[in-house]
Amino acid sequence: MSDTVNVDPSEIAKFSELAHRWWDPDSEFRPLHQINPLRLGWIEGFTPLAGRHVLDVGCGGGILADAMARRGADVLGIDLAARALKVAQLHALEVQTQGVAYREVSVEALAAEMPGRFDVVTCMEMLEHVPDPASVVRACSALVKPGGWVFFSTINRNARAFLLAIVGAEYLLNLLPRGTHEYEKLIRPSELAGWCRSYALDLQATRGLEHNPLTRRYWLSADTRVNYLLATRKAGA
Ligand code: SAH
Repeated sequence: MSDTVNVDPSEIAKFSELAHRWWDPDSEFRPLHQINPLRLGWIEGFTPLAGRHVLDVGCGGGILADAMARRGADVLGIDLAARALKVAQLHALEVQTQGVAYREVSVEALAAEMPGRFDVVTCMEMLEHVPDPASVVRACSALVKPGGWVFFSTINRNARAFLLAIVGAEYLLNLLPRGTHEYEKLIRPSELAGWCRSYALDLQATRGLEHNPLTRRYWLSADTRVNYLLATRKAGA
């Protein structure tokens, strides 16, 4: 697949426009700030990050990439929203995070350039924004070493997810800008697990991410009906 095919320019425009607000914990990115310690802890339950080569796909302003670098990983964050990457780079300079670099490159192009180079690949809250998410899964698999870990998170596709993640978050609670998520692009865990299987990523764990809008708290649970995470491992170690 060529460098520019698997991207929806309107998605990139959305994230670029909001880029200056990325590190404001009370902005549209508040949910990402709030879930960050949860997902970081979850990842570290499978693999240490210190000293590992980590790729963060669709890193945006770098909330997870920066946190992983601060845990001692050597992190490359990639995205196609140039302004978000600028913000990520500026933030790293400002707070003096060591061991993080950012590049504007598609995951498919990087897979051709650096196959099997990473110990850990993370791809969080990104698959639901691309035209061909299976192609991203394939590229993530190509980028990780045999035995390495690939982590995904995204939003399930069902009536409950529609009500909570779209109607609730975007229209009732104004947690996210309207139009952040489109129902048809949401992905069922079975679909994502199927792509992982096709591309030699063995499913190790599935976890739900729940939210109580009244207390504004998030927690991990067995309920994958709305937000969920998958931990997978590349075959052939
Ligand atoms: N992964 C980050 C940001 C999630 S927001 C986090 O969880 O904290 C979704 C990100 O996906 C945005 O930064 C957006 O620019 C990026 N994105 C959307 N389509 C993309 C594509 N085709 N290639 C790379 N990044 C993409």
